[in-house]
Amino acid sequence: MLRAGQAQAWEGVKVFSFDVDGTLVSPGFVDCVWLQGIPKAYAEKEGLSFEQAFEYVKSEYDKIGEHQIEWYNIDYWLRKFDLDIPYETLFKKYKDEIMIYEEVESVLTVLKEEGYELILSSNAATEFIEFQIKPIKRFFSHVFSATSDFGEVKKTNGFFARVCEILDVKPQAVVHTGDHWVFDFLNPRKIGITAYYLDRARRRNVKDEEKKDDEFIISDLSELLDDPVR
Ligand SMILES: [Mg+2]
Repeated sequence: MLRAGQAQAWEGVKVFSFDVDGTLVSPGFVDCVWLQGIPKAYAEKEGLSFEQAFEYVKSEYDKIGEHQIEWYNIDYWLRKFDLDIPYETLFKKYKDEIMIYEEVESVLTVLKEEGYELILSSNAATEFIEFQIKPIKRFFSHVFSATSDFGEVKKTNGFFARVCEILDVKPQAVVHTGDHWVFDFLNPRKIGITAYYLDRARRRNVKDEEKKDDEFIISDLSELLDDPVR
């Protein structure tokens, strides 16, 4: 059971930053939009089977690849496939797929009550972030999208440095948590941010004793409140 008072030991920390996909929300919605919604719309337009359309759409995604900024831009893809639907229509179609992980709201509530500033730091485009986090939006003072706001395809150490600059805090005053080893763990640590790597599958694989060795690897956000670094 979480209660106020548990997060007090974070000395010098002012800001808690969170990744979005795979960290606060499950990847289901995003996958549905890209891998079902767009191929389905393309199949209808071209009179193809879903499988044929999927093959084609997927091969076009792969040609661009995640290292180019277009990859993240849904309007680019709707234009490219000549689909006459606004992304909002696709989003609404799959809105029931949005799943905020169980412990998220209680953890955010405790951190917020403790007086920390909460922010989002994501690679995803702003429209994807905003649509998925509606029920928990009130907790966050800022939403930073590496792609939409800074034109970067990944959360580099430069990305995190700019976030600190904008918030006017030292990296040492920030704790970031996310589920990507490089973009959420190694990169923020390079500039002195305290980072936690979230591995939600870990609980199933690792025994409790082994877990204690890695204090910066967590399987659940509530562990952020368990044993903060002093
Ligand atoms: Mg993620």
